[in-house]
Amino acid sequence: MTLDDYRRCYAEEIEYVANMSSPALVAAFASVPREKFLGPGPWQIASGDARAMAAMGVAALAYRPITDPRHLYHNVVVVLDIARDINNGQPSALATWIGALDLKSGDRVYHMGCGVGYYTAIMAEVVGPGGSVVAIDAEPDLAARARENLSGYPHVTAEAADGAAFDPGMCDAMLINAGVTHPRALWLDRLREGGRLVVPITIAATPKIGQGVMAKIVRQPEGFAAGIASVAAIYSAASLRDPELELPLRKAFTCGALLKMKSLRRDPHEPEDTCLYHAPGMCLSSAG
Ligand SMILES: [Zn+2]
Repeated sequence: MTLDDYRRCYAEEIEYVANMSSPALVAAFASVPREKFLGPGPWQIASGDARAMAAMGVAALAYRPITDPRHLYHNVVVVLDIARDINNGQPSALATWIGALDLKSGDRVYHMGCGVGYYTAIMAEVVGPGGSVVAIDAEPDLAARARENLSGYPHVTAEAADGAAFDPGMCDAMLINAGVTHPRALWLDRLREGGRLVVPITIAATPKIGQGVMAKIVRQPEGFAAGIASVAAIYSAASLRDPELELPLRKAFTCGALLKMKSLRRDPHEPEDTCLYHAPGMCLSSAG
């Protein structure tokens, strides 16, 4: 089997594991060469489960060194920087989150926390040259690698920027690839009607890693629908975490309240039975 064959088998495996319904997304996983984004081998890989256990302090994370690029085509995370705990994320998780964006040909996408750009490229393939992807990463070295890796995509930009200050402009879809305590107001402002925001709302599990849910927020003609795309264990966005929200957020998770989210409200209101979680300028509500 050639590397291309391995990539096709991998895409089919991720299609079923992540229950992907978009043929264009499956085709993107089958065509984007992961090894080109990771730099020269050898690489170190680990399963997402092992990483989640390590993040919770249950076990020491054991990476496995590999030299053959065929072995990158499994449902594994790949080390980018072991000291900073930065990885190229688990394909099934990213496939679930990108799938929740319901990308269409021609969409304009914002990718915050693009890392080395592998998943940015997958989204760029799905939206096609008639669409565009605006990617940033807070780590300048990662952003530089993403820009180099994505240079073959004229409809993609990648730069170093802080997600708490960057304005992506109006978008059809936004993937926030780092854990926050609440969606930034600007993201909601920049969603076009029908636009989808997929954002991990997490509580700190360790100083760097958070656990929580991947919320999907959709701009409707009147207001925003909200739901849960998946659970998430993800690197935290330090500049997008409000320390005063950690405790109320932890309470909302502990009582299972966030699982009931149906809408996001931005209108000023007094607390009601349907209020699940208040943050500055927004409230996640169980009201449909
Ligand atoms: Zn409320």
